[in-house]
Formats: sequence, C-alpha cells, structure tokens
Amino acid sequence: MDIDKILEYQKLDSELFKLEKSIRDNADKKTASQMQNNAKVAQERSYKLNDMAKNLEKEYNNIKSQFDIQKKKMDEIFAKDVDSLSAEEVEKLKVLKDKLSANLSTLERNFARIAESMNNLLSDFNKTRKAFQMAKEQYADAKAKFDKTQSELAPHKAELEKKLSSLEKGIDKDIVESYKKRRVENIFPVVVPLAGNCCGGCRTELSLANLSVLKEKGVLTCEHCHRIIYVK
Ligand SMILES: [Zn+2]
Repeated sequence: MDIDKILEYQKLDSELFKLEKSIRDNADKKTASQMQNNAKVAQERSYKLNDMAKNLEKEYNNIKSQFDIQKKKMDEIFAKDVDSLSAEEVEKLKVLKDKLSANLSTLERNFARIAESMNNLLSDFNKTRKAFQMAKEQYADAKAKFDKTQSELAPHKAELEKKLSSLEKGIDKDIVESYKKRRVENIFPVVVPLAGNCCGGCRTELSLANLSVLKEKGVLTCEHCHRIIYVK
C-alpha cells in the first residue's frame, strides 16, 4: 500500500475542501437564503391578509343589506300620513321607529368597526408588501454577489478536481471509494495516522486484533469514525 500517494492526494484535496467550505459558508449565500425565506414569509402573510380582506368585505356587504332593509322600513314609516292614523296606530309606529333607529345605530357602529379593521389591514398589507420587496431586492443582490464569487472560484476548483482525478488513478480503488464516501460527509482529513494505539481522527483506541491488521496491511478503516488509519 502506497500511503504517500494517498497522502499526496489528500494534501491536494485539502485545498479543494477549503474552497468548498468557503462556498458553503459564504455570507452572501446565507443572506440570499435568509432573504428568500423572508420573502416567502411576507408572501404568505399577504395571502392571509387578502383572505381577511375578503371576509371583511363579505361582512360589510351583509351589514349593508341589513342596513338597507331597516332603512327602507324607516322610510316607509316617514312616508305614512300620520293624520289618518288612530292614536293606537301612531303609538305602534313610534315603537317600531325607535326599534329601527336602535338597529340602524348598531349597524352604523358595525360599519365603523369594519372600516377600522380595513384600515389596519391595509396598513399591514402595505408593510408586508414593502418587506417582500425589500427581501426580494436583498435576495437578488446577495445572490448576484454569491454567483460572482462562485464563478471566480470555478476555474481553480476545476483545476484541483482535474489534478485529483489524475492522482486517483495511482491509488487502490477500494481506498479511493472509501475516501470519497467520508469526503461527501464533509469529514476531513479522511486519512489519519495511528496515534499511539488510537485512531488519529476520533481518538478511539483500536483493538489488538485491529492493530495487527493495520500493521500488516498498512491501512485500516476506523470502526468508530470510518476514517482511514495508516501506519508507515
Ligand atoms: Zn476514528
């Protein structure tokens, strides 16, 4: 087992690992993701506000039709020729007029309440729309910056990947496969020296049986962290 080749591969791969990490941890990327989420939240809020506005409109129409009915009854009372009515009928009309009048006042208060709710809703809607616009703009800005960074890094990344695939050809296939499995899990370094009787990655002590396999073969996969342990 040619450990030096694996170590050379890993050394070059450490550059790629750093580069990939810098892309993963990129601040603009994080901002873009946050702003995308903010825009989504604002959009959902505006849908909700829209539904609330529709309900208020229904309520308004309902009250309006009740108001029109009561108002019509009231107009009918006023249109009556009181002089042609008996005292008892006039008294009945007076009671009805008071009742209608109270109903109309209640409905007017409901109108005022709906108007206030509408105003609050509208102001909330405007705020939400502004928040949505702002999030969208900040998203576009951060996304553009991140894309630029990524495209600037792309040639170096491609170059490293090319060199690595060429180095890979000189290494045992099983080792390469095992290495890549750990690598996609963002475990780094993958290949570690034996430290005393322990794995140089996770510091778990190896059994005597495993130690002898390691000494015989030169490499061993750690049972605990699955890194590749080596001895020279
Ligand atoms: Zn380990």
